[in-house]
Amino acid sequence: MKSRDRKRVLITGGAGFLGSHLCEALLGHGSEVLCLDNYFTGNKANIAHLMDDPYFETIRHDVTFPLYVEVDEIYNLACPASPIHYQHDPVQTTKTSVHGAINMLGLSKRIGAPILQASTSEVYGDPSVHPQQETYWGNVNPVGLRACYDEGKRCAETLFFDYHRQHGLPIKVLRIFNTYGPRMHPNDGRVVSNFIVQALKNEPITVFGDGSQSRSFCFVSDMINVMVQFMESAPEFIGPMNAGNPTEFTISELANTIIDLTGSTSRIERQPLPSDDPKQRCPDISLAREHLSWEPKVPLREGLQHTVDYFDALLSHGTKI
Ligand code: NAD
Ligand code: UDP
Repeated sequence: MKSRDRKRVLITGGAGFLGSHLCEALLGHGSEVLCLDNYFTGNKANIAHLMDDPYFETIRHDVTFPLYVEVDEIYNLACPASPIHYQHDPVQTTKTSVHGAINMLGLSKRIGAPILQASTSEVYGDPSVHPQQETYWGNVNPVGLRACYDEGKRCAETLFFDYHRQHGLPIKVLRIFNTYGPRMHPNDGRVVSNFIVQALKNEPITVFGDGSQSRSFCFVSDMINVMVQFMESAPEFIGPMNAGNPTEFTISELANTIIDLTGSTSRIERQPLPSDDPKQRCPDISLAREHLSWEPKVPLREGLQHTVDYFDALLSHGTKI
């Protein structure tokens, strides 16, 4: 295939956890991939195996600044995603979501390229409706510690919909629920990576609160499939659309499953619940089922095993975690 026969796809945040899997998947589908990242939480090691591919290109850039490139599609993933990382520099987090959305929407407007926003279940805040449907408007504390992320992502959604209404931009807004898998940042404080690393090191498993809060965990391959399917779906289907695994687990159940899978001697250590920590979170994925015939395929134990193998390899190669 000649290079110009290939779709040129820009992935912002392409060196991150989800972004690197998306780069890989789209190269596999025969696209040319431009991976943009400022490496705040992303890592070159995540994309090192793609560097020799002639259809893969990287650009070090911060999405809070304008970008002029020519592409056929844009996936906007740039934004720190774990509470530790997004609360490290909260002003920059909001700027990344809001200025980043304005810049990428401006790019999309200039070149006419469809643009998909990686939004989040955090737009629902600490939900009073369960499971969460896209029609639920959310329960977000606008001045809390999570607000830089939650409100930034909510404002980005507003911008996407206003650019669509005002300028006819071809948008897709995807609300991603907790996703896990290989290439998660080992120190980002997210529950799956924390528990696996603690279990592999036989260190105490830090359960915040009484462990009865619930999350639903989606394996990364399922999430990448729905992202690509959504981008390829009918232009009038713009979302917002939930994506995640609707099977719900408590944090205590997750801890016990990981201890069981790793054969760890770790004990459970209770620590205080962080502020504004949502009590329950579970997606209603009827919309994705109906429009894309999509649903997650990888059960929790199987996905956790792949993730355990990844962190085990990192630790046995002497990576400092
Ligand atoms: P990640 O931190 O691994 O990836 C984010 C990437 O964005 C990193 O490579 C980082 O360096 C880059 N980045 C951050 N700020 C940037 C900036 N200003 N300019 C350019 N690049 C920048 O996180 P992830 O889990 O891969 O998340 C990817 C996207 O999906 C994020 O937008 C996140 O909000 C969203 N999301 C993820 C989850 C999840 O469970 N993983 C859930 C909901 C939403
Ligand atoms: N959590 C925990 N121990 C940890 C890290 C997280 O008990 O070491 C809890 C956290 O309080 C939350 C859940 O696990 O209730 C999921 O946390 P995470 O940061 O992974 O994602 P989010 O809160 O954004 O869903």
